Amino acid sequence: MNKDVFNATPLTHLAGSICKVMGVPAPNQSEGVIDELVNYCFNKTGGELIDRTLMFNPDAIGAWTYEKYYGKFQAVRDYAGLELPLLTVFPPKTPVCFGSMYTGASPCVHGIQSYARPVIKIDSIFDAMLRAGKKPCIVAVKDSSMSEIFNERDMDYYLEDYDQETVAKALELIEEDKYDLICVYNQEFDDVMHRSHPSSKRSQRAIDHYAQSFELLAKKVKEHWSGHNTLLGYATDHGTHREWYSLGNHGKNIPKDMNIKHFYGVMPRIDEKL
Ligand SMILES: [Zn+2]
Repeated sequence: MNKDVFNATPLTHLAGSICKVMGVPAPNQSEGVIDELVNYCFNKTGGELIDRTLMFNPDAIGAWTYEKYYGKFQAVRDYAGLELPLLTVFPPKTPVCFGSMYTGASPCVHGIQSYARPVIKIDSIFDAMLRAGKKPCIVAVKDSSMSEIFNERDMDYYLEDYDQETVAKALELIEEDKYDLICVYNQEFDDVMHRSHPSSKRSQRAIDHYAQSFELLAKKVKEHWSGHNTLLGYATDHGTHREWYSLGNHGKNIPKDMNIKHFYGVMPRIDEKL
C-alpha cells in the first residue's frame, strides 16, 4: 500500500450494507452500500439473508497499524477473512466516525462534526432494525462515545466498567441468543496510545487484547448461533498518528488517521436436519 494514498470506499456505505444483507431497509440518510461486502455475505449463505450480526468495534486501529502488526491479527483473519479497506470520515474522531458508521450519513448530516457526544437524532441502523422488528443492542464502556450517541432508542444498552467487562457481557448476550444485532465497543488501544504512542509496548498489548476479545466473541458465536446465518465484523472507527511532541493522536486529514481496514466473516447456518 502506498502510504500517501487515501482509501476509496467510504465508511458511510457500511450501515446500508449490513441492512441489505439482513433484509432491512437502510437508515433513510445512509449513502450507499459496499457491493463487495454484500456479495461476500450472500455467497457464504447461498443467497439467504443474514439474521444475526455481531459487530466488534475496537477503537483506533488504523490500516497502518494493521500492516505494521499483521501477525497480531491472525485470530481476526481466522474468523473474518474479508479485508475491506475503508476511508473514515473527517474529522477522524470517535463520535464523528461511529456516528457515520451506524447512520450511513456524513458528519454534516448526522450532526457530530467535532469531539462532541450529543445523541444523534437522525435515522440510524438501530432505528432501521427496530422498524423491521429486529432487536439491536449496544454493549459499551461507560462514558464512551458509543455509550451515548445512540441513546434514546427503544433498545437495550449495557454499559460496563471497561473492555474486559464489556466483552464478558457480550459473551453472555450471545449465549442468550435474543438480539439480532449486537455492537460491542472496546477502547484500550485509543486510551493507551494517547498516553504513549501508537507503537508503544502498551499499545501493542492493546492490539493483542482486541484480537483475543474478538476471538472469544467469535468462538461464542460459533458455539451458540449455529442455527443462524451470522455476520461477524471487526470494525474500527479511525486510525492514529504520532505527534512531533511524541504522543499518539488522531483527527487530521492524513492517510494514517483516515485509512482503516475492516474485517468481516460469515458463519452460515448449520441445518440440523441434514
Ligand atoms: Zn476512536
